[in-house]
Amino acid sequence: MKQHNFSAGPCILPESVFKEASQAVLDLNKTGLSVLEISHRSKGFVEIMEKARSLALEHLKLDANEYAILFLQGGASYQFLMAAYNLLESKAAYLDTGTWSAKAIKEAKLLGEVEVLASSKDQNYNYIPKYYTVPSNLDYFHCTSNNTIFGTQIKDFPKSDIPVVCDMSSDIFSREIDFSYFDVIYAGAQKNMGPAGATMVAVKKESLGKVTRAIPSMLSYQSMIDKDSMFNTPPVFSVYVSMLTLSWLKEQGGVAAIEKKNQEKANLIYSEIDRNPLFEGFAAKEDRSMMNATFTLKNEDLKSKFDQYTKEARINGINGHRSVGGYRASMYNALPLKSVQVLVDVMKELERKA
Ligand SMILES: *Cc1c(COP(=O)(O)O)cnc(C)c1O
Repeated sequence: MKQHNFSAGPCILPESVFKEASQAVLDLNKTGLSVLEISHRSKGFVEIMEKARSLALEHLKLDANEYAILFLQGGASYQFLMAAYNLLESKAAYLDTGTWSAKAIKEAKLLGEVEVLASSKDQNYNYIPKYYTVPSNLDYFHCTSNNTIFGTQIKDFPKSDIPVVCDMSSDIFSREIDFSYFDVIYAGAQKNMGPAGATMVAVKKESLGKVTRAIPSMLSYQSMIDKDSMFNTPPVFSVYVSMLTLSWLKEQGGVAAIEKKNQEKANLIYSEIDRNPLFEGFAAKEDRSMMNATFTLKNEDLKSKFDQYTKEARINGINGHRSVGGYRASMYNALPLKSVQVLVDVMKELERKA
């Protein structure tokens, strides 16, 4: 029986996607070949890649003439460097909202100057800084839309006259945003889109070609665009499963419809965290993430009891990241509301029996 999977990543995917993907490992669309053994140059795979890219554009409501969608390797962590390689000429602005932002800043510093506009590190990243302005004379502004570890999420993006680069690894396709505000969006697949191994990048084509450095082919958005993400062998399975998940999302009614469900799940867990006297939310209320709810037990002595109850209820992956402690319930697109209800029931049970 399936567990209630609250894992932060790699994470739960839709049941129908697991089924279709496992069938395709044996025989892809009755071709007599596994998806794992077909050539990435074959018509069958080129169609999969094209479909994944066009579905991504459709969900993000981006224009194919303006934006290119890439599926690359190396994870979101590789994009910390790759984005800077392609866009950082002298100085860029970064918002420091957590571990992943800090890692992006570290990589960018290898290539140029970084101005950190604001940071919430002083409060162990439990909020999103708001009182800063994006300078108009820097190369770009980089932010992390959802801070997976700390459970905070940017609700309103600042006004910016310079290109905006965003790490959306843990909330891509989860809520409606005007995605055309961004010049580069990147997201590791394993949080809300597919299995680990592929990273989706949406690039506004006109933002490229402005830096003077020589860019190695494997780090160049332009060379990846020129080869339709097939400069080298792409992560075929990961792209295939991402395509299935994006098709599933369309059947669900797209990003707008999934946002409603995500909101419902988030409301359910946060209202219990706030109601139940045994628990305390970690993130500032107005910055709470719809994807990752972080919370702690006020009385650590109840930990073994709570852990036992969650285990009995077949709940997986709610241990908090070591830099926050406590618990983290990750509620990505494919997590059913029912799973959140099971967790909430266990929290109530602890209250009754404590
Ligand atoms: C998980 C995560 C990353 C790192 O992704 P990798 O694909 O493992 O490199 C980066 N940014 C955010 C926001 C994440 O949640």
